[in-house]
Amino acid sequence: MSRIAYVNGRYLPARSATVHIEDRGYQFSDGVYEVCEVRGGAIVDQQRHMARLERSLAELRIRMPMSAGALAVVMRECVRRNRVREGIIYLQITRGVARRDHAFPPAGTAPSVVVTARTLDFAGNERTAAEGIAVVTVPDNRWERVDIKSISLLPNVLAKQAAREQGAKEAWFVDRDGHVTEGSSSNAWIVTKDGKVVTRPADRGILRGITRTVLLDVIKAQGLELEERAFTAEEAYGAREAFVTSASQIVMPVVRIDDRPVGNGAPGLVATTLRAEFHRHAELS
Ligand code: PLP
Repeated sequence: MSRIAYVNGRYLPARSATVHIEDRGYQFSDGVYEVCEVRGGAIVDQQRHMARLERSLAELRIRMPMSAGALAVVMRECVRRNRVREGIIYLQITRGVARRDHAFPPAGTAPSVVVTARTLDFAGNERTAAEGIAVVTVPDNRWERVDIKSISLLPNVLAKQAAREQGAKEAWFVDRDGHVTEGSSSNAWIVTKDGKVVTRPADRGILRGITRTVLLDVIKAQGLELEERAFTAEEAYGAREAFVTSASQIVMPVVRIDDRPVGNGAPGLVATTLRAEFHRHAELS
């Protein structure tokens, strides 16, 4: 079955789906994106993702190309046409097509919209979660507005590649003060020796992950103590547990950081429990 992509009003076979060479996403990374999990054919936490999308667009002064309702129809249609049961939807909106000039294009330039949906290896992800992943730390050399889900991801690309080359699955960015900000495509968490769950406050230093937001409810429901504060790589080395969160991985246990085992080197009880409980708190649509 050939994959189907939505591009500016049309559903096309992915192999022939194209955008203009002067699309500002291609020329300047001038756009935003969202990734939603698909579970049992339903879209997970779509409303929260749409709210974050609208915020990202507003911060960059890109107009919403269609109503949130119309966008929801397109997303649903992409899931249906690609027969995705367990997977992800990718949605990208750029400032549109215009002759290359750094300043904004003429008013009225239509934003470009691309939506794709694909199946993920659900069983493979479960196996990875049962084993846990390794992370490495890298300096956080990103711009200050990482709270915007911009498609401008070069530092994240380089960080992820650095992780891969060191046999790890994720890179944790560390700021100038030695504090972990977040992963290259995930939020970062630790569990202290006395069982407190710690993650950085969602200020401008990180992306406010939708998975992170839902997990705060799960943590509360589990009666766990939460501390929203920055933590250092040193503290993470000595933590009882560590994990990352994102729409495509939900809660993924971290068992090694910079080649040091976390806790006993196996996924911990808190991370495993939060992963198992997550979908009881997420919204399906
Ligand atoms: N932080 C960064 C830099 C990300 O790229 C992502 C997801 O792609 C996240 C955090 C987690 O966000 P979410 O839980 O909404 O997927």
